[in-house]
Amino acid sequence: MSTNPRDRRIADDVAIDRALLCCANDCPNRWSVDAGAGRCCSAHAWADHHLWPQITAEQQDAETDRALANTVGPAPSAPRVPLTLADKREILGRLAALFRKPRDHRAWQRALEEKVRRGEQLSAMQRHCLAEARRSMPATIEDAA
Ligand SMILES: [Zn+2]
Repeated sequence: MSTNPRDRRIADDVAIDRALLCCANDCPNRWSVDAGAGRCCSAHAWADHHLWPQITAEQQDAETDRALANTVGPAPSAPRVPLTLADKREILGRLAALFRKPRDHRAWQRALEEKVRRGEQLSAMQRHCLAEARRSMPATIEDAA
């Protein structure tokens, strides 16, 4: 037996994994039924013992099919249509407009103030942020004057 802690940890993981598997030889499923014949998967638990090799083969085939299905990549997407010059200009124009638009750094504070005016309840964090904002910066320029 190895004294290397890493090797022992890996061996323990393998032993734990095996303990989770169906008691039928080479069955790839985890056990889910403990009905007196050992801890078996549902496929083996309710079948006669003479059918177990056939069931195991079916379960292994199903496991292989699932693994193959998981390795198949996503369906091919539609071929990309290149953007026209007009499309590119329109997209860049919208992007530029975003940067030209003046940003309202106090919109969230005004939204919270409006909620307070309407009598809506604020969360503890909203109340805290609003109190901090009122202390450090007035809601509007007119308030500052
Ligand atoms: Zn099984």
